[in-house]
Parts: sequence; C-alpha cells; structure tokens
Amino acid sequence: MSHLWISETAFRDMVEEANRACPMETGGVLVGYFAEFGEPVVFAAIGPGPNAIHLKNRFMPDHTWQCEQLEGIFQKSSGTWVYLGDWHTHPDCSARMSRLDQRTLRSIAKFKQAENPKPLMLIGGYSSSDWDCAGYQYLGNRLFRFLVSYKQCSLRLFPILNI
Ligand SMILES: [Zn+2]
Repeated sequence: MSHLWISETAFRDMVEEANRACPMETGGVLVGYFAEFGEPVVFAAIGPGPNAIHLKNRFMPDHTWQCEQLEGIFQKSSGTWVYLGDWHTHPDCSARMSRLDQRTLRSIAKFKQAENPKPLMLIGGYSSSDWDCAGYQYLGNRLFRFLVSYKQCSLRLFPILNI
C-alpha cells in the first residue's frame, strides 16, 4: 500500500475539529506537496471555517475563509505547499468512501483551477469511541465514468517544527 504522509500537527488539528463538531459532520482542506514519485505529504489541515454549516451527514465549508487560509499558507511556504485534497468526518459510520465521496473526489480531479489531477480524500470515521482515519487518492475513471478508481494509502505521521 502506498503511503500518505501527514504531519502530527495536521492530524491533531483534524481530530480536534472532528471532536468539536461531533455528532455533526465537519471537514476541510489538506495542504502540502507531492514528493518524489508522487507520494503525498500533508503539512497542514485547514478547518471548515467560521461560517460553515454542519449537518449530521454533510457539511458546507466556508469557502471564502478556506481560500484565504490556503493563500496564506501558500505565501508563507514560498509557494511550496499547495492544495492536495479534502478531509471530512463520518461521525456515525466507518471511514469508507461513499458514492458521494467518490463523485466529489472525481470532481476535484477534474477541476482545472485546482491543478491537482491526483487529489486526496481523508476520511475520519467514528467507531467505538475513537476516530479511525483512512486516506484515499484518486487514480482515474473506470467503466465509462460510472465508477471512480482510487487507492487507499496507509497514513504515516511525522513531526514538524513550528513554521
Ligand atoms: Zn464521506
């Protein structure tokens, strides 16, 4: 299984936000870069934003706020850290990709402005009083666009110093 590297800070931020919003769904944006051989490295996880709307099985992010955060991180990293994909929670089920998640992942891949043909989706599922996280990466369309091809990546945590 290929790896998805994620900083301890980004991971902690996601779990904190997941707990804060639970039992409602929440999520955000993953920021980092694709290393050699395309291995994704996530440095930061942007949250949903102050004006996001949280429901039990979906949420609408505060897109304007997220774009500002993304732009700030992009500048601070001298253009190294970019948008890699999305993360969200499944407060009442497993971290498996739903049909909607597959379609969302495909539309991120096809969204030219994001310039990210192999986006990530990280899902936190809630089971037996803890979050179980799974990472996925888009590979392409299958079967005349009825299904989406993606691979699951094993999550690897790494520490980073403050930036
Ligand atoms: Zn989902």
